[in-house]
Amino acid sequence: MNKELKVIDFYCKKCKKSMKVSYMVTGNRNYPVLPRVMMKCHHCGRVMTLKNFKEGELLDRVEQDKYYI
Ligand SMILES: [Zn+2]
Repeated sequence: MNKELKVIDFYCKKCKKSMKVSYMVTGNRNYPVLPRVMMKCHHCGRVMTLKNFKEGELLDRVEQDKYYI
């Protein structure tokens, strides 16, 4: 299994639409994920930011390469 090539796609938790934002997994669970990046849902307008969010936390909650933020 080659986790380095894995890509996680972000989806809006509220409306389940794609955020059109993806994260490339590094294999380092302590790697910060999109720190201080503001993402706005194109569908419902929700704005989300990730603060002190690590790759390990992302992988623990990912479902079929999708992460609902
Ligand atoms: Zn939304």
